[in-house]
Amino acid sequence: MGPDPSFLPSINGKPGILIDFLIVGGGITGLACALALRRIGHRVTVLERLAEEEISRLANGGGRLPPNASKILFQWGLEAALREFAVSSPGVEVMRYDTGDLLGTHTWAEEILREAGGEYLFYHHADLWRLLLRVAVDAGADVRLGVSVTSINGDDPSVELSEGDVLRADVVVAAVGGSSGLRTAVSADDKCLYDSMPAHCRLYSLFVPSQVMLQDHLLAQMYIRPSPPAFLWLGHRASALGNRVGGVDGFVVHVWVSDYPRSTANENEWITQADEADWEDLISHCEPRLQRLVRGATFRASGPVKIVPQLDNWVHHSDRVLLVGEAAHPLPVGSVQLTALGIEDAAVFAKLFSHLTSEDQIPAFLHAFQDLREGRCARVLNSERCNLNFRMLPNGPDQEERDNAMRERHARGISVFGSGGGKLTEQWDQLKELFGYNAEDEADDWWVKWGLLRERAKERSTELVERVNIQLQAVNIRNDDDE
Ligand SMILES: Cc1cc2nc3c(=O)[nH]c(=O)nc-3n(C[C@H](O)[C@H](O)[C@H](O)COP(=O)(O)OP(=O)(O)OC[C@H]3O[C@@H](n4cnc5c(N)ncnc54)[C@H](O)[C@@H]3O)c2cc1C
Repeated sequence: MGPDPSFLPSINGKPGILIDFLIVGGGITGLACALALRRIGHRVTVLERLAEEEISRLANGGGRLPPNASKILFQWGLEAALREFAVSSPGVEVMRYDTGDLLGTHTWAEEILREAGGEYLFYHHADLWRLLLRVAVDAGADVRLGVSVTSINGDDPSVELSEGDVLRADVVVAAVGGSSGLRTAVSADDKCLYDSMPAHCRLYSLFVPSQVMLQDHLLAQMYIRPSPPAFLWLGHRASALGNRVGGVDGFVVHVWVSDYPRSTANENEWITQADEADWEDLISHCEPRLQRLVRGATFRASGPVKIVPQLDNWVHHSDRVLLVGEAAHPLPVGSVQLTALGIEDAAVFAKLFSHLTSEDQIPAFLHAFQDLREGRCARVLNSERCNLNFRMLPNGPDQEERDNAMRERHARGISVFGSGGGKLTEQWDQLKELFGYNAEDEADDWWVKWGLLRERAKERSTELVERVNIQLQAVNIRNDDDE
């Protein structure tokens, strides 16, 4: 299928040569990479082991797109399509998890727009996945769903499928997520293996349909707002975040709990069929609205939240295979920047490969990708870890200090995380810095500082070799004449 021009707005710089990419994994990162590479003309095949129905069924929870990622999708021409299902959040209301008492509010809309150039969007995860699938296919990517890759061979860049077929490409991009065994095909860095890491806490993901929200007077008050805020609950070793989403219309909630029911079967897997008694146990310490949300949810899933360090090597020693997204730099599930980092990866990767003029640049571009991304991803991981701990502070002096500071700011009519110093301001400044990041600018800077330098050095060395060759020829001719 030919590319749909509406998703191919102009981009500065088109590659001098076009190459073949095989992307293993058609999650958000894989599809975003496919779209970004197609926008500049490279040929792309995506192999995803799950079928569309399975992903739609499993990706039923909420997703968040902070401004650093929404602005990339806007730049790619997807703003109107995103607005069909994503709700732009103007701020957050902060409450106690156990009583529901209001601690304060924070309005971020204008500040974020001004400083970061994007919006904070909330959506149903499957809607974003389906949008990226559609536009990647419309842009000309060959996306094959229900196709499982059993191995990646870096030395002859290729993958083997479960039926035994082998597919080759110039570059293989492994966007296989944080828990796939295929990560080790690129980097034998097994100290980070997902399964061996203990769970920090457990995340419960819920979807509550519109009619349930509207029928319950307590829930309806949260749901019917002209510009719906997010709701953040802070509790003793527990926290929750809920917000309205468009598209399928409903309310999504993430609940983080350190002391979760131990009958939860598998510490490494996501489950959608938890025991009813576990859910009742989970909500026994929550305020009434959270209890009603859990009971009214038509989708419930839970999984471990792990804090897994990023891998040391994202590039296979053959310099033809690269790990991206969660596979390279996992974040705890439920993180603000979870999906955003995959979209940033795609933007940076495509920017680098928009400068491709010869195949011998491929290794430099793959290593530049890791150099550009690893610092940023480590900073995000650190911030997500602090954020998680801040929201789940056990009852005690630190928690009281946090809550009292919020109440005091609220009484003065100012945003809870606003200016004025202290831990709350620090927290907000850190978040704003992450929101203001511009992934494509980083890649452009690399090209101007290092990429062009390398090209000039290469040109100069070619010129030098040519000059030496000419001089050698002249000497040879003179020698021949003398004889
Ligand atoms: C089914 C599913 C549902 C999700 N639901 C939510 C949600 O509701 N809310 C939320 O915030 N986040 C959700 N996430 C997580 C979120 O998508 C990611 O954490 C984040 O977007 C980064 O994505 P990623 O593409 O790097 O990794 P992932 O999203 O993990 O994607 C990796 C993809 O690679 C595929 N894959 C793995 N191994 C192979 C193989 N051998 N061959 C072919 N394909 C392979 C996987 O099936 C998966 O689709 C979900 C992820 C998945 C896979």
